[in-house]
Amino acid sequence: MTEIQSLIRPHLRNIQPYSSARDEYSGWEGIFLDANENAFGSTVAGGGYNRYPDPYQSVLKQKLAAVKGVATDQIFLGNGSDEAIDLLIRAFCEPGEDEVLLLPPTYGMYQVSADINKIQTAKVPLTRDFQIHWPKVKAAIGNHTKLIFICSPNNPSGNLMDREDVEDILDVAPGLVVVDEAYIDYTPEATLIPLLKHFPRLVILQTFSKAWGMANLRLGMAFAHPEVIAILNKIKPPYNINGLTQEIAEKAIDNQSVKIDMVKETLAQRKLLKESLSSLRMVEKIYPSDANFLLVKIKNADRVYHALIEKQVIVRNRSKVIMCEGCLRITVGTAVENQKLLEELKQMDI
Ligand code: PMP
Repeated sequence: MTEIQSLIRPHLRNIQPYSSARDEYSGWEGIFLDANENAFGSTVAGGGYNRYPDPYQSVLKQKLAAVKGVATDQIFLGNGSDEAIDLLIRAFCEPGEDEVLLLPPTYGMYQVSADINKIQTAKVPLTRDFQIHWPKVKAAIGNHTKLIFICSPNNPSGNLMDREDVEDILDVAPGLVVVDEAYIDYTPEATLIPLLKHFPRLVILQTFSKAWGMANLRLGMAFAHPEVIAILNKIKPPYNINGLTQEIAEKAIDNQSVKIDMVKETLAQRKLLKESLSSLRMVEKIYPSDANFLLVKIKNADRVYHALIEKQVIVRNRSKVIMCEGCLRITVGTAVENQKLLEELKQMDI
């Protein structure tokens, strides 16, 4: 048995996946009477939705492989990266035995997915400057640590994790190390994708929901060793990525300059927003950000949060989150949106 095979939950190692009509015959030409689709078309004008989509998203994966510098069999596509998070837990963690290690404060879905799947979590908080506490992480890693989630840039703090710490974890972890790079397009040179060659237990998550501006379409990516990808494909719902999403994502990849321009604009606005916020008396600290949001420690955070809602400016209240006490998480908006936020804050800044 290979190293990855031995990490997969025993009852899934030889599981027979559902074989869809499009698995058994995958050509595009012919009279298709095999999938019980509606041969007469779709009920909406414009239509063309009556056929099931490609269950393995082959065209999209070919385009992505070229852009990301990986092979197509190293790519899994999910209904948002949230689906990949859930499937990783379901594929690798045995309830009552295995454990997921989290580094709070971090993205909430790791805990929720672990809870849904009845998997216990161990937690090692980040340091005060939101970096990995390597000695404590090392001490917390045990034989049953099947998954470690590292969010980089981290949500809600916004910063990248030190690469050496991630590599140290990869050297000792007995299970998979999942690096969630949802915000990596705002600092693309920092991606750990090149490390996939050296660490078969590394999984990298990315998403079309942030810099690509496609949160509504629900498309997340996992890049990993082909055996990790294979088990995720075996246990996913057969047609998890709808055809429209595949088609639009293909177009987005063909037009990458749009994303690059939007990232530039976001970074310019982030700088301006940070400068303006730092001149407010109520702002106590703005944490360094490598993402499209700022974590801001603010006097009377709860009160400011609710006062902003009154003015129809909605930010995220993180003031009850461990190590984010008194903090609001503010997504970088357009120039006009940021201006409105700042005007409202200035009026409260007495
Ligand atoms: N990871 C992180 C760190 C996130 O912040 C988010 C969304 N807020 C996700 C994953 C989920 O992304 P998706 O829309 O692809 O499910």
